[in-house]
Amino acid sequence: ASSDTISIQIFVPRESLIMKEVIGEGEFGSVYKAIYQTRSGTEAEVAVKTMHSSHMLSNRDSFLEEAEVMMKLNHHCIVKLIGISEDSKGSLMIQELVPLGSMLTFILRHPDQVNVDYELPVWASQIACGMQYLETNKIVHRDLAARNILLATRHQAKISDFGLSRNLSDNKEYYMATKGGRWPVKWYSPESYNYGKFSSASDVWSFGVTLWEMYSYGQQPFGEMRGAEVIEEINDGNRLEKPDDCPVPVYQMMERCWEYDQNRRPSFSELYDFFASLTNYENVR
Ligand code: ADP
Repeated sequence: ASSDTISIQIFVPRESLIMKEVIGEGEFGSVYKAIYQTRSGTEAEVAVKTMHSSHMLSNRDSFLEEAEVMMKLNHHCIVKLIGISEDSKGSLMIQELVPLGSMLTFILRHPDQVNVDYELPVWASQIACGMQYLETNKIVHRDLAARNILLATRHQAKISDFGLSRNLSDNKEYYMATKGGRWPVKWYSPESYNYGKFSSASDVWSFGVTLWEMYSYGQQPFGEMRGAEVIEEINDGNRLEKPDDCPVPVYQMMERCWEYDQNRRPSFSELYDFFASLTNYENVR
């Protein structure tokens, strides 16, 4: 059974999980493949994100916040949360298994399987589609980057890692105190690093940087530059350069995502339409 058939159950008993191999490393613990045996007797492969109890004291709230945000979401371009669990070592987050893992790793390992006229626009349209859904649900992601996109197949990208995401409730923006935390400044809009202001428009800026990573086959944006230098470059009006293989219209779209004035950036719906039209791939929505 695919994880799509599992209904969301907030608390998953630890006994119903058979842990298999490690498939990734998260900030607070490893991510495992596991078999989930539901009460009705069906089995499904899942991903289990662990948080060791030594991190739990300081990060328990953010772990639960991430689960809470994900719990509300149901979209084929967003990694599904199946439930949470606990064992003697800490907390577990059970997610849909996204078999090919991180899009960034995939692009770096198999550049030959990544075409600028097919796979990249298909993935870009799916990311935009999932982001449009988040916007509708008043959620800002705040950590959109190629490393946080997972691939279910070569034809299906999914947004993951809601660790920094926030519910906007009735506001259009979210302000975050600039203290502490490691911010992915190279992916952040000027209003985010200057004023701690986050919105769907700042997610659009990060989407532009994600596109740049994709079309440059997984290069590090701004190379070895430090955060402060990047901020200076952006303030001076400089932007990431067009990757060699990137079609001009796609680069022009990236540049629009990096408009200093957030109101001049495209919306996710416009971005979705643009990339879907490049693929003639009607099923992505
Ligand atoms: P963190 O937010 O702590 O950095 P991530 O959620 O990014 O952790 O997970 C780390 C890695 O584990 C990912 O890069 C990916 O390779 C793998 N991973 C995470 N979630 C899944 C999933 N649902 N399915 C498959 N692999 C996953």
